[in-house]
Amino acid sequence: MTLRDITDRIAKAEKNAGREAGAVSLIAVSKVQPNERVKAVLDEGHRIFGENKVQEAAGKWPDFRTQYEGIELHLIGPLQTNKARQAMELADSIHTLDRPKLANTIARLAQEIGSCPDLFIQVNTGEEDQKAGVLPSEADAFITESRALDLPVRGLMCIPPVDEEASLHFALLAKIAARNGLQGLSMGMSSDFEKAIALGATHIRVGSAIFGDRVPT
Ligand SMILES: *Cc1c(COP(=O)(O)O)cnc(C)c1O
Repeated sequence: MTLRDITDRIAKAEKNAGREAGAVSLIAVSKVQPNERVKAVLDEGHRIFGENKVQEAAGKWPDFRTQYEGIELHLIGPLQTNKARQAMELADSIHTLDRPKLANTIARLAQEIGSCPDLFIQVNTGEEDQKAGVLPSEADAFITESRALDLPVRGLMCIPPVDEEASLHFALLAKIAARNGLQGLSMGMSSDFEKAIALGATHIRVGSAIFGDRVPT
C-alpha cells in the first residue's frame, strides 16, 4: 500500500458513508519506522503523524518540524504524568487522557505553559485489564470532570479488542461522544479504518498500511 492508496480508500469510505470529503483526518502512525520512510511520506505532502512514545517522538519530530512546514503531531500512546510536560510541548494533540491524575497534571501545566494540545479521552470499550482508558460506565463522569478543569476535550479514542468485531466498539464510542456533545472520534487502524469511517471517525490512526510492517525492536 502507498499513502495514495490509503487516501483513495478514505475518500471512498467517506462517500459511502454520506460524509463530506475531507471529514476524516489521516494520522500516519510512524512509530518505530525508519526516518527515510517517514521522510518519504512527508515528501509526498502528508503532514499529520502519530507516535505512541514521548521519547521516540522527541527524538525525531523537532528535527522534522524544522525541515517541513505545517506538521501536526498526535500522541496516541499511554502517557505517564512525569512525561506530560514534554508531551504537551511536543504534540498538537494527545489521544490518551485516561485518568483524573493525568487530567489534573495537564490542567496545571496548561496554566504554566499558557497552552494545551487538543485532548481525546481514551475509553476502554472492551473493558480489558491490560488496556488503558476509562470504562464506558465511567466515561460521562470523567468527561464532565475534565471539562470542569477547562481542558480542551475534543473527542474520544478507543482501541478495540483484537478478537472482537471492531464496529461494536466504534458504535459504542460514537454513542458516548454523541450524548456528551463531543465531535471528535479517534478510531480505526490499518485493518478496520473503513468501518470506523462508516461509524463517524474523525481521526483514523494508520501505521502499517502506509509504512509497511514495523521492524520488530
Ligand atoms: C500502532 C498504533 C496504531 C497503528 O496501528 P496499525 O495497525 O499499524 O495501523 C494505531 N493506534 C495506536 C494507539 C497505535 O499504538
